Amino acid sequence: MTVMIIGAGIGGLTTALSLHAAGIDCAVVEAVSELKPLGVGINVQPHAVRELVDLGLGEALARTGIATSALCYATRRGDVVLTVPRGRAAGYHWPQVSIHRGHLQMLLLEAVIDRLGPDAVRTGLSFEDFAPGALEPGGTGPVGVRLRESATGRLVQDGADVVVGADGLHSAVRARLHPRDNELRWSGITMWRGITECDPFFDGATMVVAGTQYGAKIVAYPICPKAQARGRAMLNWVAEVRTAPAGTPTTEADWWRSGRLEDVQPHYADWVLPYLNVPELLAQTGRILEYPMVDKAPLPRWGSSRVTLLGDAAHPMYPVGSNGGSQAILDARYLALALAAEADPAAALARYEHERRAQTDGLVASGHRFEVDEIIQLAEQRAPGGFTDIAAVLTAQELSHMADAHQRVADMDVQALNARASWTVSH
Ligand SMILES: Cc1cc2nc3c(=O)[nH]c(=O)nc-3n(C[C@H](O)[C@H](O)[C@H](O)COP(=O)(O)OP(=O)(O)OC[C@H]3O[C@@H](n4cnc5c(N)ncnc54)[C@H](O)[C@@H]3O)c2cc1C
Repeated sequence: MTVMIIGAGIGGLTTALSLHAAGIDCAVVEAVSELKPLGVGINVQPHAVRELVDLGLGEALARTGIATSALCYATRRGDVVLTVPRGRAAGYHWPQVSIHRGHLQMLLLEAVIDRLGPDAVRTGLSFEDFAPGALEPGGTGPVGVRLRESATGRLVQDGADVVVGADGLHSAVRARLHPRDNELRWSGITMWRGITECDPFFDGATMVVAGTQYGAKIVAYPICPKAQARGRAMLNWVAEVRTAPAGTPTTEADWWRSGRLEDVQPHYADWVLPYLNVPELLAQTGRILEYPMVDKAPLPRWGSSRVTLLGDAAHPMYPVGSNGGSQAILDARYLALALAAEADPAAALARYEHERRAQTDGLVASGHRFEVDEIIQLAEQRAPGGFTDIAAVLTAQELSHMADAHQRVADMDVQALNARASWTVSH
């Protein structure tokens, strides 16, 4: 069996590594002519770190990212509402890793080239279409695929037994499979993002989420072990501001689009938290990126016959709970498991979709509820002048509701993950 993976992002590269480990032939086709370490910070949750560790990437990951110890939810003044332990501190056998998205992609790319060979990733080739008939139920393949060389515009006909669309938010594979289910949904929140070196706060490995989606919010976490070793923090920050009612995005959803300091700064002019000077953080950032917080409505089905979707192509989600990259990694690993276990590729894709779609649909829906923010807002309303002890502001029941809400978007059951058998396929 040969598998063609469209897209060399986090999901596509992890799929290649997982299929290779399962003894299944595959190749990756990537639209850009050269993969560069683009992006800012991203979180890999313990369930996904486990999968990367099982792929033999644990040490590389530990060298490249920070093992996050805690997540601290706070008000816009910085008063702490709830602190939840993360990764090993929460009892998982694996850490949560906060990492530069581009460095994670390069780490995966190096492993793919090392294990599958230099030709495993074919760059400068865009997916355009399937051959007619490829999607018919019971189709025996191979699936014909039409690609286009970015540099010359030349068409390239190719094919494989299975095609996986891991081509991200603007997936052409999804557009081909679901031409009418492709609209972006904008939360009305604009996200400005950047990385700035500064003094560490708390233990130097804590992620802070201050403020709410009802006004402005700042999410900040360190991502660089080298800076940590020097006693500094390379801090990834995301400033999320409600700039319009929810609807259709008014700006392009392009991960690499520049933003302007003067657009974001006014929303945070008085945000000097006891442990983080937000105006200074924003002002000292070299390049600010701007991106609308978007997702798409869950699909009634992902794939058909021998073609499927994975990662953001299948289930783009709001970054509530830091799940986008992790879910792409989990998709990749389970897809390889299913393809190795089932003799019929179409049955394998159906099994993969059945397992993964319910999980990711739930996360997309939870992301829309912003339940954690509701409780932080309550604390801000009850104590507008600030507080030192949250117990004087929120009841134990309200705090426990917040902890549950956090768990619904960001965690999976610790015991269940620790006890579950590995998804590694031996061949
Ligand atoms: C340049 C870039 C920067 C990003 N930066 C961040 C960030 O800072 N923080 C964050 O949380 N998330 C970021 N993301 C998104 C994040 O990587 C995903 O949400 C998550 O990791 C899921 O990954 P994915 O593999 O599904 O999609 P992606 O990582 O988006 O990868 C999709 C890949 O498919 C390729 N592709 C697209 N169309 C075609 C086509 N027609 N043919 C062939 N290949 C195609 C793209 O070039 C890309 O390499 C970024 C994505 C990109 C592409």
